[in-house]
Amino acid sequence: AERRRRAAAVIEEVESSLATPTALLRGIADAMVAEMERGLRGDIHAQLKMLISYVDSLPTGDEHGLFYALDLGGTNFRVLRVQLGGKEKRVVKQQYEEVSIPPHLMVGTSMELFDFIAAALAKFVGTEGEDFQLPEGRQRELGFTFSFPANQTSISSGTLIKWTKGFSINGTVGEDVVSELSRAMERQGLDMKVTALVNDTVGTLAGGRYMDNDVVAAVILGTGTNAAYVEHANAIPKWTGLLPKSGNMVINTEWGSFKSNKLPLSEYDKAMDFESLNPGEQIYEKMISGMYLGEIVRRILLKLAHEASLFGDVVPPKLELPFILRTPDMAAMHHDSSHDLKTLGAKLKDIVGVADTSLEVRYITRHICDLVAERAARLAAAGVYSILKKIGRDKVPSGGGKMPRTVVALDGGLYEHYKKFSSCVEATLTDLLGEEASSSVVAKLANDGSGIGAALLAASHSQYQ
Ligand code: ADP
Ligand code: MG
Repeated sequence: AERRRRAAAVIEEVESSLATPTALLRGIADAMVAEMERGLRGDIHAQLKMLISYVDSLPTGDEHGLFYALDLGGTNFRVLRVQLGGKEKRVVKQQYEEVSIPPHLMVGTSMELFDFIAAALAKFVGTEGEDFQLPEGRQRELGFTFSFPANQTSISSGTLIKWTKGFSINGTVGEDVVSELSRAMERQGLDMKVTALVNDTVGTLAGGRYMDNDVVAAVILGTGTNAAYVEHANAIPKWTGLLPKSGNMVINTEWGSFKSNKLPLSEYDKAMDFESLNPGEQIYEKMISGMYLGEIVRRILLKLAHEASLFGDVVPPKLELPFILRTPDMAAMHHDSSHDLKTLGAKLKDIVGVADTSLEVRYITRHICDLVAERAARLAAAGVYSILKKIGRDKVPSGGGKMPRTVVALDGGLYEHYKKFSSCVEATLTDLLGEEASSSVVAKLANDGSGIGAALLAASHSQYQ
């Protein structure tokens, strides 16, 4: 009984520290809009970098030819080739391969990482079949999707600002990642030109627009989180170049680094941040994205084990290990709807090493998953809402008339596979927008849109144009 009382006290404390009432979400969205404006002004203290992507026009459907893309994410990287057939034939043929990044390369040297990537790409190019056609005498061209913040000076160059997610490699920050990749390709004897460097959000936006003309923003919810959207070039005070013909510029918000005292930061978040590779940075990302959600759950369960003997008199040693509980396992536990929570029980046995958990303990575990996932999803929805606010697609125009159909392309393993998470993002967005505006807004899964998007941008920036 004493244990129960103590467990209830911890749970209650967790519930209140993770709470995200709608009014709080509105405040967070307003703070994000303010940070976006600061970033667009070029304020060096702005939390959202609002990076200029040098993409001023999105795919039209006219793109054609053979193009490659390489997508370096936080967990995986993908190589892809696509034969584009213009307006009529669209994507004629597409092939891709996914390779997981060996963990030691995430914390090794720049050269090792890029050599590994270039080798995988060279191998993939080697399997190009007859149905892909490169005109005589032409060099193969590639769109490089890079899911880390980079300062671009053109569509095909950019220097790394900082590593995020699980990456920590000395010597890459400040270097041009396109030259790094190009040199590695040369070392592999691979003759290929990088014609577009795009953030994964920008790639997803481009791929999304190719599929649906009303896509105005893209959001990634995978290992990390980020968003990009189409901004009016004249709403970017820091842009000093010529006004693009389209009048638009795609902005990579780098919203993962958002931080605000409005964010419901718990003791578990603070401790996880403190022990991370990048303390004090990427706070919003650490509350929302796939790399971290399972770890937050683990920390709460550990507290319950210590304070309320949740898993018996001894604290299971495995529960002390950082990142032992991965987000896909958390999702599997959360999605267990069987009456005896059998899957959840089996997961606890596998991961934490405790057999024979009581039904009550299983329910508590699922409830913790629910609290952490729900906070993440609601905060993510506040982010989407803030972008819609920024571009004036959050409400019906005041002068009357209907709001244009507005599509947000979403991608990333977390959004794609964690159903309870994605449904909560959508429900919260609907709630924030209200009935009328939400009827014009569509959240659309853009599965692997970033790869095809990068290939499309490589095509529209081809040296043979
Ligand atoms: P990347 O972030 O490397 O580009 P993805 O977009 O595929 O790659 O996202 C991978 C991340 O998505 C994983 O690290 C994990 O956190 C999350 N994820 C993958 N599968 C699931 C799942 N079934 N349930 C919950 N989260 C998942
Ligand atoms: Mg990705």
